[in-house]
Order: sequence, then C-alpha cells, then structure tokens
Amino acid sequence: MATRVIPPRILRKLRYNTATKPFQPALTSPALAPTSNILDQKPPSSTTTLLPPDAELNFHDVEKLFSHVPTTKLLKSTAILHATAVEPMVDLGTWMLRSDLMQTNNPLRNIAMATTRATFFDHFCAGEDAITAGKSIAGLNEAGLRGMLVYGVEDAHDNAGCDRNLKGFLHTVDVSRSLPPSSVSFVIVKITAICPMSLLERMSDLLRWQKKDPSFVLPWKQDSLPIFSESSPLYHTRKRPEPLTAEEESDLDLANKRFLELCQKCVQANIPLLVDAEHTSVQPAIDYFTYSSAIMHNKGENPIVFGTLQTYLKDAKERMLLASKAAEKMGIPMGFKLVRGAYMSSERKLAADLGYASPIHNTIKDTHKCFNDCSNYMLEKIANGPGGVVLATHNIESGKLAAAKAHELGIGKVNHKMEFAQLYGMSEALSFGLSNAGFQVSKYMPFGPVETVMPYLLRRAEENRGVLAASGFDRQLMRKELVRRVKASVL
Ligand SMILES: Cc1cc2nc3c(=O)[nH]c(=O)nc-3n(C[C@H](O)[C@H](O)[C@H](O)COP(=O)(O)OP(=O)(O)OC[C@H]3O[C@@H](n4cnc5c(N)ncnc54)[C@H](O)[C@@H]3O)c2cc1C
Repeated sequence: MATRVIPPRILRKLRYNTATKPFQPALTSPALAPTSNILDQKPPSSTTTLLPPDAELNFHDVEKLFSHVPTTKLLKSTAILHATAVEPMVDLGTWMLRSDLMQTNNPLRNIAMATTRATFFDHFCAGEDAITAGKSIAGLNEAGLRGMLVYGVEDAHDNAGCDRNLKGFLHTVDVSRSLPPSSVSFVIVKITAICPMSLLERMSDLLRWQKKDPSFVLPWKQDSLPIFSESSPLYHTRKRPEPLTAEEESDLDLANKRFLELCQKCVQANIPLLVDAEHTSVQPAIDYFTYSSAIMHNKGENPIVFGTLQTYLKDAKERMLLASKAAEKMGIPMGFKLVRGAYMSSERKLAADLGYASPIHNTIKDTHKCFNDCSNYMLEKIANGPGGVVLATHNIESGKLAAAKAHELGIGKVNHKMEFAQLYGMSEALSFGLSNAGFQVSKYMPFGPVETVMPYLLRRAEENRGVLAASGFDRQLMRKELVRRVKASVL
C-alpha cells in the first residue's frame, strides 16, 4: 500500500496547499449577518461571475482539486477507500464489530475500538464530541466546503430512547450555532430516532388506508401535503388497520412535541433542518411529519424544514410534483433533498415476499433519469421562485448535469438556494470539483461517541456497499495526485 512505499523523509517534503486558495473565503466572513438564513448567504461580488459551462467541473487538474488535502490525509483516505471497496474487508469489519469481541469484558475490545476509531471512524465521521466535530467542520470550511451535522443514532423503539435521541439532535443545533456562520448548512434529523418505529409503521398503515379509502377518518391528522401519488405502492397495508389506541395517540403527541421543539430550535438558530428518508414501510409517516411541520415553519423565500425524496422509487417524481404544487398553492416554500436511495435490496425483498412488483425502478438507467429529472424540476422551480434543493449524490454525471443546468438558469454562486452534498469521506473529487466551480457543497457528517455511531455506520456501510465499491474514480484521482506530489518532492 502507498503508506509503505513512500519513505517518511519524502513524505515530510511533500507539498500541499499550493497556490490554489479556497474558492469561498466568504463563507466564514464575519461580515455575514449571523441571523440571515444560511442558504441566503452570498459570497462577495468578486466571486459571483459564472464560469463558462465547460469549465464548471474540472477533474483533470488534480493538484488544484486536492490542494487543501494534506498528503498524510490523502494517503490515509486512499488506503481506507481501497479497503472499503473490497467487499470481504467490509464483511470482516462488520462481523468483527458485531461479534463477542466487542463485549465490554473482552480484552481485545479496546484494541478493536482504537483501530476502528483511528481508521474508519476518523475517515467517515466528524468526531466523538462537539469540539472535534467543530474542528472537522473548520477544516472543511477552509477547503471551501460546509458541513451537515448528523447526530449518529439508531432507530428508537420507546419514548425513553426517543427522548435521549432528541437531546442529541438539540445539542447538534447548539453545536452548529456555536460554529462560524454558514459553516454548517443543515442539521439532519432521523424521524425514526424521535418517534418509536412501531408507531411510524402504524401511522403509515393508517395513511395508506386513507389513500385507499378517503372516507377513512384519522382524527390525529394535521394539515399536510400530498404524501402519495396515484402510482404509490400501498401493498404494505393489506387490511383495514385499527385506529390508534389511546396509548399510541399519547406517544404521537410526544413525538409531535419532540419534533416541534427541534424545529423551533432550528428556527431560532436560523439553521435549516433536513429530514432523512427511510424504508417505504415508514416513509409515509415521515413525510407526514415533514410536511405538516413545513406548513407550520416554512415562510418567505427559504424553507427551514426540508424533506428527502428517494428517486430510486418509481413514484418519486409524481410525489414530488404533487407535494411541491400543493405547497406552492398554499404559499409555502418547499425544500427537498434529492437522493437515489439507500434501501434498494430490502425494498425489493419486501415487495417480492408480499408478491408485489418492486417499488424501485426496473433499471439503474431509470433511477438516474428520475434523479436528473427531479433535479431539473427543482432547479427550475427555485430559479423562478421560493424553495430550496439539496442534490445529495456521488454520481459524477448527475453532478455535471445539475451544474450545467444551474449555470443555464443562473443559479450557483449568485443563488444559494441550492446545495450539493456528499457523505463525509466520500467523493472528495466531486465535492472539490463542484466547489471550485462555484457551487455550495456540503459534507454529510455523522458525529457522536464511537459506541453510539458505530451501529449507524455499520448499517450505512452495508446499505451503501455499491457506493463504497464505486469509489474508483476518487481513488484513481487521489493516486494521481499522490504520484504528482512524490515526483514534485523528488525532482
Ligand atoms: C448527503 C447524502 C444524504 C443521503 N441521505 C439519504 C437518505 O436520507 N435516505 C436514503 O435512502 N439515502 C440517502 N443517501 C444515500 C443515497 O440515497 C445513495 O445510497 C447513495 O448516495 C448512492 O447514490 P448516488 O446518487 O450517490 O449515485 P451512484 O453513485 O450512481 O449510485 C447509484 C446506486 O444506486 C443503486 N441503484 C439505484 N437504483 C437502482 C436500480 N433501479 N437498479 C440498480 N441499482 C440501482 C446502485 O446500486 C448504485 O449503488 C444520502 C446520500 C448522501 C450523499
């Protein structure tokens, strides 16, 4: 591996931070009013000239691309991305971290934890506490990127777990507020961590049944936007569900209060809140929470509560159109994070087990088209009116297409209603390429104690196997830059 090939003497001599400076020095400028919405903050006029479209994304100049990445970090990242691209390595790592080895009384546990902390955790997570997360974000910010902070917790199954998780999310808003304005673009929340899973399943069943039978009354339902389209799969709910019990209604009341507290904290801090998307079995309830809260909190030009649309779903585009048109009619600015989606295998399996067609597009080409169509629609929408969009993708083609479309519409440096996003530790080339071309780019950064975040990371590693394996483009560019630095230091 590269770490063994390059002698330390040369490593010390290797240069980084060459002439290229961060594209967005203004992001940390004290001149930015701390109370203005983050998506509203603009770089100074000197940086508002748009580049010609063909210069928008440049992956050829690796020196410029990785100019903010120290050589040691570049080496470590390359090694870790290589390791995670090897499926048996991921299998071994997940087996080990789930095995008896991790029992508190096992003497090997400390070694395993220390190794995990120094490698995968360090690469894919912002840190164990607020101070380290703040430092990671400051590092990103220097390189012209921003952070989306996500408190890495798992799904909750009871109210005590939900209350604990809520504290973590509220703390995340405090951490974000304590950092330089605009260095954190969003705080992330998983509704499955603040509302018990069983209740989300029950609510989703009831919402689906109401879609089948509009006369079915849901006394707990507040104002919302359309959650289903005509083609939405309703197969999860085969018979008329019982109404919520008194206990479930009381749990729902608590979940509403938790989400309300978080939304209000984000409103006060003026930091948008992004709601993650999960399995289709619970997604209707998640959309319900998101939309009813968007109706309450999204005002003026910029949404404060954003939902997530998984474009690998066949009904994604229709649902997005219905929700955004309904929001427009109500005068509510809508914000969406567009993703392809992380639960493809489990969705396909569930549909097959129940004897239905998969809700996932039949071909990857259809998924790509859906992502790009939804992205075009949202970009056109925000170019002409209120709203916001986060394009959360590692796909180079989608990045290029969206960058070209944004350029055509005059969005980008002059309009900060759009944000690109990649997972922390992934797709550095795309992140820096987009940022160098003048777009706002965020990294999705889980943080929290290793013991809390590891189960979350393991789940993501399993779900995103394809993505980890497909980091080839990044690895290739990183290797190219490493070779260039070695040559530059030797010659
Ligand atoms: C910032 C950020 C936030 C995210 N938040 C969420 C979230 O809230 N919820 C969520 O579910 N996911 C989320 N994801 C994960 C995301 O959904 C994807 O799993 C991941 O990013 C891969 O998609 P991509 O756009 O990067 O595209 P690519 O790198 O092109 O990857 C495409 C992947 O899609 C799969 N795929 C999709 N449709 C098909 C199909 N029809 N046939 C075959 N393969 C298919 C392939 O296996 C392939 O691995 C997030 C990702 C990011 C970067």
